[in-house]
Amino acid sequence: MKKYILFYIFMTLGLSVAFISCGEDDLSSTSVIKDSQKEENDFDRWIAKYYVAPYNIDLKYRMEDIESDMNYFLVPADYHQSVRMAKLMKFLCFEAYDEVTGSKKFIRDNYPKLIHLIGSAAYRNNGTMILGTAEGGMKISMYYVNALQLNPTFLNTYYFKTMHHEFTHILNQTKPYSIEFDMISGSNYVKDGWNSKYASNTTSLKDGFITPYASSEPREDFAELLSVYVTNTAAQWSQMLTTAGTTGSGPLQQKFDIVYNYMLDLWDIDLNQVRTVVQRRQGEISTLDLDNLEN
Ligand SMILES: [Zn+2]
Repeated sequence: MKKYILFYIFMTLGLSVAFISCGEDDLSSTSVIKDSQKEENDFDRWIAKYYVAPYNIDLKYRMEDIESDMNYFLVPADYHQSVRMAKLMKFLCFEAYDEVTGSKKFIRDNYPKLIHLIGSAAYRNNGTMILGTAEGGMKISMYYVNALQLNPTFLNTYYFKTMHHEFTHILNQTKPYSIEFDMISGSNYVKDGWNSKYASNTTSLKDGFITPYASSEPREDFAELLSVYVTNTAAQWSQMLTTAGTTGSGPLQQKFDIVYNYMLDLWDIDLNQVRTVVQRRQGEISTLDLDNLEN
C-alpha cells in the first residue's frame, strides 16, 4: 500500500535532528493485529468519550492493535505518554480547527478516522527517521511518542507539523489544488535528491522551498508550506522569507498564496486564523492537566 511518509534527516554523532522531510514509499502492510481479549481501562473510556463520540476518530496505542510496518523495529507507545499525546493532539490540532470553524464538523468529516501511536521512530538505513505516515485518507501513524517533551518547538518539530502535513495530503485528496501550483517551481523539484541537495532550510529557502523536503515534489511542497505556516509565528515566517532573499521569496510567496486561497476558497478556512489559534494554544500547554483523565 502506498503511504505518505514524513521523516527527518537524522544526524548521528550526537548532532541534533536537522530538518523535516517527507516522502512516499511502498511498504509492507502486513497486519499484526491479534484478536486479543483486552480489558477496557480509563484511557479507553476517555478515548471513547473525547475522540470517538465527538469526532468519530479512533486512537490506537497498543501495539497489538496496530498494523505497524514490519520493515522497522518499533517499540510500543508508553501508556502515560500516549495519554499526554492524546490530550495534546485534541487541544493543539482538533480543537484549534473547531475554534476556527465554530464546530467539530470539519475535523469529524475530514480527519483520518484512525490514529496510531507508536513509541519509537522508524529509523531508515539512509540516515532518516520516519515521524508520521498517512494512508489513503483513513489513518495516520504518529511515531516517537515515548520521547514526548512539552515544549512547543519539540512538539512542532516531531509531532504537530507532521499532523498538519499529513492532514493536508488528505484534504488535497478530497479536493485537488490548482495545477498552477506545480508550475511555479516547475523543473526545480528533485524527487529523492532533496536530502543530498539541501543540507538545511537556509539553502532550500533561497531556491524557493520552505524546507529541504518541500523540494521533493509539488504535493509535498504544498503540505510543507501549510504545516510550516501554521506552526510558526508571523515573525518566524517573515524571517524565512527574508532568508529566502531575492531568489527564493518570489516563488515561496506565489506558492503560499495558492495554498492560502485553496484553504479559504475550497474549505472556508483562513490559515491566518488557524495560525493565531495554534500559536495561542501552544502558549497554554503549561495550563493543561495532561495526566488527568477526568477531563
Ligand atoms: Zn507528505
